[in-house]
Amino acid sequence: MKEQIHTIPINDALNNAGECPLCYIKERAFKHTMDFCLGSGASYMESDIREMTDTMGFCGYHFKKMFEYGNSLGNAWILKTHYKRTIEEMDKQFKKFTPSKKSFKDKFIKNADTEFSKNSIANWIAKRDEKCFICDSIEKTYRAYLDTLFYMYVRDPSIKEALKNSRGFCLEHFKDVCITADAKLNSEQLKEFYDFMLPLMEENFKRIYGDISWFIEKFDYRNKDADWKESKDAIPRGMQKLSGEYVDHPNYESKK
Ligand SMILES: [Zn+2]
Ligand SMILES: [Zn+2]
Repeated sequence: MKEQIHTIPINDALNNAGECPLCYIKERAFKHTMDFCLGSGASYMESDIREMTDTMGFCGYHFKKMFEYGNSLGNAWILKTHYKRTIEEMDKQFKKFTPSKKSFKDKFIKNADTEFSKNSIANWIAKRDEKCFICDSIEKTYRAYLDTLFYMYVRDPSIKEALKNSRGFCLEHFKDVCITADAKLNSEQLKEFYDFMLPLMEENFKRIYGDISWFIEKFDYRNKDADWKESKDAIPRGMQKLSGEYVDHPNYESKK
């Protein structure tokens, strides 16, 4: 089958998968979004882009990533616009707020209701916390790739072959692989998929178990001169394979 534009990233992800092609896709999407927000293309200088990042805001995890990225003027611009909007929203929320009147019965309820069902200020803050421009952008790309992966899987035998010869997925992303497979494949395709994928997953988890075991064995003085085999980076790979996080990748910084 001829390679179409949308198949390129799938092949790219499968060729660079390591322990999981979806970890690779997520990191790629993360870097792309960081460059979009704060990179030398200077999207943050365009007010319509800032309007977009503003509506969603950012989660704490990604604020940290933005700080580490290192474009302080860009961060300042994004924050300035974001603060302006937050203060406007805050003013509206505070103006319409009325403290709840407590009934006699309520006086005996000591524990705070974590559902925030009655306090409109708490509800407003909780809604803001759910949104992050970077999380959202990565998630959209990730979902699109998952769909494309299965779209290609049933149409392009080379994708199936590449998956069969891969190291499978990390456990975190395998959850979404199972859900997407169930949605995209028919019964026959599902049986074939799980028939090779489940043993492949298990085999690869055992491989990492072996790498970690050998890593520990290497601390034995009798193995001092023995080969590391594949176990030198067993810890970061082992952590990634469970969680979907590249724990050993350096901070992503702006290209100066
Ligand atoms: Zn993964
Ligand atoms: Zn986020």
